[in-house]
Amino acid sequence: MEILRGFKDVLPKDIEKWHKLERIARDTLESFGFKEIRTPVLEKTSLFARGVGEDTDIVEKEMYTFLDKSEESVTLRPEGTAGVVRAFIDNHMENLPYKKYYYIGPMFRYERPQKGRLRQFNQIGVEVFGISNPSVDAEVVYMDKVMLGKLGLNNLRIEINNIGCSRCRPGYMKKLKEYFYEHKDGLCEDCKRRLEKNPLRILDCKNKNCRLIAKNAPLITQFACAECKEHYEKAKVKLKNLNIEFIENPYLVRGLDYYTKFVFEIITDELGAQGTVSAGGRYDGLVKQLGGGDIPGIGFASGCERLIELMEFEEDKLFEYYVANLESDDYAVEIAAKLIEVTQKRVYVEYEKKSLKSMMKKADKMNASFVVIIGENEKNSNTVVLKDMKNSTQNEYKLKTFLDNEVKRWV
Ligand code: ATP
Ligand code: MG
Repeated sequence: MEILRGFKDVLPKDIEKWHKLERIARDTLESFGFKEIRTPVLEKTSLFARGVGEDTDIVEKEMYTFLDKSEESVTLRPEGTAGVVRAFIDNHMENLPYKKYYYIGPMFRYERPQKGRLRQFNQIGVEVFGISNPSVDAEVVYMDKVMLGKLGLNNLRIEINNIGCSRCRPGYMKKLKEYFYEHKDGLCEDCKRRLEKNPLRILDCKNKNCRLIAKNAPLITQFACAECKEHYEKAKVKLKNLNIEFIENPYLVRGLDYYTKFVFEIITDELGAQGTVSAGGRYDGLVKQLGGGDIPGIGFASGCERLIELMEFEEDKLFEYYVANLESDDYAVEIAAKLIEVTQKRVYVEYEKKSLKSMMKKADKMNASFVVIIGENEKNSNTVVLKDMKNSTQNEYKLKTFLDNEVKRWV
């Protein structure tokens, strides 16, 4: 049986990396006062159609949508924000005193699989509700940068843009449409389609011709309303106050319709074309659009697979102790249990009855630090033999002495 295209197993040998990523992300986000939220992987299709936007690439062609057994159209979540907003509204979370949340989990998009682009991928994301103050825009970028720094990612570029709002964006889109219509023949097939529904998307098309054409397109800076301009300018000042370097990229648009005012991406050159590791921005109209109050929001999401790819990681030990259980299962398990209890280390008990030599080989492959050898003799004399794999010394101990020694070893 083969795995689906664009899907990936995370194997035990790589799991420590994932644990490290998740641990650092959780620690960082929680230290900034964010609380975890877990929403379903499956939601009503209409949530994403309304939340992400009918005319986006995601909703148009990337969603895993199907009818369930009661003929309801459901969709595997392609992103995290819509679900968090739905949960926020459903559970009256506007009444909670804290309104900063984060999530970690899988997303699904039917895209063309390539390096850094999967059909099931994981995101770490955050959402903040109810704060229109541009200081929080800067704080969110700052926190993202801190998190990436703790993961060991440093050669990063932060790009920002003002993307307007429901008041000024339509006027801008109209101008964009007019401009791109004049150059329609040079656009790629995708952009010809985008031209009708979502001309903003043409600005970040990767096609060479489209890029050339986009170079002379009108920019949002000329069309943004006073409120958007003011918000964006203030956010820039706040970023500077936090010593965050950024580049203004007027071509930065996001793939989801809900963004307003301030958007950003954090990008690395080390991953080739799929270099964006984090992306986000403000979405002041989304809560209302999904049936909630007039509550502003801002958030970002980071792609875990891309982060994992960039993280430095030392090959870790699989287990600290390997119990070479030669013939006395009960005694071996008893000792393993005691060892775990007193040391809190990882102890692997062998059950395949092989020679001591082949067990030693296995322990070595597992990169275990110590081998606890247990056979009939040891059982009868209430002792164990401990081999230190690093300096190859081997000694026999009374059980109590052994446990006392091992406790001391790790303090
Ligand atoms: P891109 O321009 O790379 O398609 P996007 O605009 O679709 O990105 P978002 O929806 O904002 O991206 O997702 C945020 C982050 O999630 C991305 O920056 C990336 O790190 C990650 N990501 C998005 N899609 C995928 C995917 N198919 N496979 C792996 N990671 C992804
Ligand atoms: Mg995409």
